[in-house]
Amino acid sequence: MNSIIADLQPLIEGEISCDHDDLLHVSQDFGGIVQKQPKVIVRPQNATDIAKAIQYAANQNITISSRASGHSLSGQSLNQDGILLDMRSLNRVHKLHTEQLWFKADAGVTWRQIVDATTPHRMIPPVLTNYFDVTLGGTHSAAGLGQSSFRYGSQADNCLGLEVVTATGEIVWCSPNENSELFNHVLCGYGQFGIITQIQHRLKPYRPFTRTYFLCYDNLDSFLHDERLLIAEDRVDGLLALFSPCIMGVTRGGGKGLKPLIEWFYRMQITLEVDSENDIDQEKLFSGLNFYRHVYTENLTFEQFVQPAIAVPHLTGTVNPWIDVLLPGSAAKEFIETVLGLVPGFIDFRMTPIGSFGLVAGNTNMPMFSLPDDELIVGFGMYPTVPKTQIQPVLEQLKLITDLAFKMGGKRYLASWAELDLAQWRLQFGDYWPKINQLKQKYDPQGILNPGFIQYEYMTATQINQQMISQPQLPLEPVVATSDS
Ligand SMILES: Cc1cc2nc3c(=O)[nH]c(=O)nc-3n(C[C@H](O)[C@H](O)[C@H](O)COP(=O)(O)OP(=O)(O)OC[C@H]3O[C@@H](n4cnc5c(N)ncnc54)[C@H](O)[C@@H]3O)c2cc1C
Repeated sequence: MNSIIADLQPLIEGEISCDHDDLLHVSQDFGGIVQKQPKVIVRPQNATDIAKAIQYAANQNITISSRASGHSLSGQSLNQDGILLDMRSLNRVHKLHTEQLWFKADAGVTWRQIVDATTPHRMIPPVLTNYFDVTLGGTHSAAGLGQSSFRYGSQADNCLGLEVVTATGEIVWCSPNENSELFNHVLCGYGQFGIITQIQHRLKPYRPFTRTYFLCYDNLDSFLHDERLLIAEDRVDGLLALFSPCIMGVTRGGGKGLKPLIEWFYRMQITLEVDSENDIDQEKLFSGLNFYRHVYTENLTFEQFVQPAIAVPHLTGTVNPWIDVLLPGSAAKEFIETVLGLVPGFIDFRMTPIGSFGLVAGNTNMPMFSLPDDELIVGFGMYPTVPKTQIQPVLEQLKLITDLAFKMGGKRYLASWAELDLAQWRLQFGDYWPKINQLKQKYDPQGILNPGFIQYEYMTATQINQQMISQPQLPLEPVVATSDS
């Protein structure tokens, strides 16, 4: 038997596995680009199991990572040669407080479970992701953005409290007023500062009916103007935008070969939540907007509207190099035009969802969710699926897109494909970067929690240990800083 299992079994009430198929199943995430395999999987039954597993990992100096439903795209939920906590085994909704407008649930509960539990009470979390089979722990560790984020921020912004197991195996409750430093960094922290076991989160009552207008723009300026206006005047309750290419013909490419002539259209779906359809003043809603066509109107009950409209197939042999970029509103037009110009050169643009979302800086206030310096933030996302064998050129293009975003004052939404080098990690967090390094050393001094994603400025004890194991023949020499280091 694997020695970690032999050691952990007597300590833990939950299940422990080193079954070959189980390990293989958790060796990749939804992105499919990064592969890592842990030595064991622990399926905790409670927070104490996690505390015991963390204490064991700390004593043995092995790494321990948290995986929920594995929808990460850059391997954030994977572990190499250590312990993987399968957080889906903590999956109970504990309390719905409909008067005080909050719920409390385990971190491994999915948003689908929450919607199923709250809608019978005409309550809903203020922000829902566009896909429900991700967990509370997973999205609170990323941010969690949806159609109403321009108004309510991220899901992390709507968190009221967390039960966290720290890297020393302590179980603590944290909130904006209690252990607030830990609270503020575990949120959007990708499991770097502690493992979330329970979450208390805001609810809001909703109105029974919705109306969605499908608008089409043939001009990016008008689209961005209207998005800004709708958000600034708080005219709508939900906003979703997708960009569609239309092939207008084929050109001879100035003698360089045939090239499709592509015109982009910008689609915006704006939703109102109402007590009655008679409450809607369409003329007022549309005043000052410059869309090219109002294509369609859809009336739904809120319960119908809230259900995700996207199907997410996972085809074998393919990978998902999805990318989300956050841009200062002032740079959005130039960035989007440049990137849409590049797109046909490296992905099948006809099959790739591409879209945009808006955020208001003042409504999003999480130190680990880094935002550009502007009041209106425009998100830009591209979600290609490509054959595994053709991933390398796509990643090279995504790297250029990341470079361009940073150059224009943008940031990356780290839940998507994000392979940043140290200089880019510095740009991502700006002036806050030294603080993040300091807090990592404070809350996870051995560097055992979820290693391999954020690249810190210093070497963690676990990295030094791994280096010594992989290079045992080298004499240990002190590292001397040089003038260019
Ligand atoms: C099909 C699809 C649709 C998506 N739609 C949206 C969307 O609409 N909006 C949006 O914002 N994002 C979206 N995402 C991104 C997604 O929300 C994030 O990748 C999220 O982190 C995935 O949650 P998960 O439960 O699968 O967590 P995992 O992928 O298992 O884990 C993600 C990260 O969270 C950490 N983590 C997980 N649980 C815990 C815990 N309990 N304690 C500490 N750390 C933990 C992991 O270590 C890892 O770093 C989508 C992704 C996919 C694949």
